[in-house]
Amino acid sequence: MSEPYDVVIIGGGPGGYNCAIRAGQLGLKVAIVEKRGRLGGTCLNVGCIPSKALLHASELYEAADKEFAGLGIKTGGLELDLPQMLKQKDEAVDGLTKGIEFLMKKNKVDYLVGKGRIAGAGKVEVESEDGKQTLDTKHIVIATGSEVTPLPGVEIDEKRVVSSTGALSLEKVPGKLVLIGAGVIGLELGSVWRRLGAEVTVVEYLDRILPGMDGELAKNAQRTFAKQGMEFHLSTKVTGVDASDADTLKVTIEPAEGGEAKTLEADTVLVCIGRRPYTEGLGLENVGIETDKRGVIANDHFRTSAENVWVIGDCTSGPMLAHKAEDEGTACAERIAGKAGHVNYGVIPGVVYTAPEIAAVGKTEEELKAEGRKYKKGKFPFQANSRARTNHQTEGFVKILADAETDEILGAHMIGANVGEMIAEICLAMEFQAASEDIARTCHPHPTLTEAVRQAAMGVEGWTMQA
Ligand SMILES: Cc1cc2nc3c(=O)[nH]c(=O)nc-3n(C[C@H](O)[C@H](O)[C@H](O)COP(=O)(O)OP(=O)(O)OC[C@H]3O[C@@H](n4cnc5c(N)ncnc54)[C@H](O)[C@@H]3O)c2cc1C
Repeated sequence: MSEPYDVVIIGGGPGGYNCAIRAGQLGLKVAIVEKRGRLGGTCLNVGCIPSKALLHASELYEAADKEFAGLGIKTGGLELDLPQMLKQKDEAVDGLTKGIEFLMKKNKVDYLVGKGRIAGAGKVEVESEDGKQTLDTKHIVIATGSEVTPLPGVEIDEKRVVSSTGALSLEKVPGKLVLIGAGVIGLELGSVWRRLGAEVTVVEYLDRILPGMDGELAKNAQRTFAKQGMEFHLSTKVTGVDASDADTLKVTIEPAEGGEAKTLEADTVLVCIGRRPYTEGLGLENVGIETDKRGVIANDHFRTSAENVWVIGDCTSGPMLAHKAEDEGTACAERIAGKAGHVNYGVIPGVVYTAPEIAAVGKTEEELKAEGRKYKKGKFPFQANSRARTNHQTEGFVKILADAETDEILGAHMIGANVGEMIAEICLAMEFQAASEDIARTCHPHPTLTEAVRQAAMGVEGWTMQA
């Protein structure tokens, strides 16, 4: 009988594959089991990567249509080649998933294609087209991710009524697209299809978009999306989608608290009310692990209630983000190897890759108020930033929140071009428990958008110089 593995990881997404790489680096004997037939999980196959490929291409398409002429660039007749746009997206996905396979080999990780099931303590059964085999292992890491949350009464066919997965591959631009849910995924994919020509209507149960993000940021973002042409029905629920007509979907909506129903017509409906942990058929009962609505419960540093069974990523609590899964995977491998792996959940950024981008880290104003924590605020508009003005990208602002007494940065909230890249500066500062003054006194290159971060930091102490 061959030596048991040190660790078998079930699920090959950002949580699983990063855990495998780090465990391999630390000299552990590792296997990763993935049923999809391709590594990379939701993120690479049907999430972050394909959505960003379409966001990038559609943003350029819209810029070519609306902005290039003003920059002195004549494009001639602008034409959308949707099959090519989808093909370049698929090529990005293919290249990156193959890259992960290479990284498995490089770090001596065995990659098994098949469905993994915990068969008992230290045993993972892998079922593939070739049959079943059982792996013996000292540790098991559950990294099975998440799936689309269905909306009761609305059947997803991935043709006309689609989830995010279907919305990444529509064969033609819908005339009318209705989004159910105004979260990150819906607003990103809604932006893609609006830029390519769809009329987009957003129906959201809550009285605001982007739940969980800073209220001022969300309000500003909604105004911007509305200016771009999206129509919003807030505090409104969808009660059904009638797909009986071959041409037109009929979406029934009514006020969230009840009231008169209305019908919206659509060619395509995107159901994007969130994602839920995925642990189907995983055999959790064989090792006595229980779940709650946020998936497998982690007790202490990714440990579950079962000895030597660990859990990371979307299938446990915390934000459902690829970089959170990645950090947990890395720290979990380090814990298994006897090191002190750690994730700082206070510093997990969130980005919405629309145009303008939206980015945030740390506490929102609403959270600080609810905690009764005294804070100061510095805010700087891109309108007053020289690079933003030069680039004709003056929408948005940077807002930095810091402790009223110690000046420690508690959170930052930004909307504007490239803020998804700029938020990393704040993350680093927060990891070092920096004060807003540390940023204010750090030399930033000119002319760059990052100067807006510095000016906002100056604003915390009331000495913003350039507005
Ligand atoms: C449209 C969209 C856009 C997104 N954009 C972003 C973004 O821009 N930034 C960001 O941070 N996050 C984004 N996300 C979220 C991100 O994709 C997830 O947070 C991330 O993929 C979670 O990683 P994970 O490893 O926990 O799980 P997953 O990536 O879901 O991977 C889990 C893997 O486990 C496999 N699996 C499940 N059960 C078994 C089993 N029993 N045996 C074998 N294999 C199994 C699944 O097939 C899957 O491949 C997006 C998601 C979507 C849907």
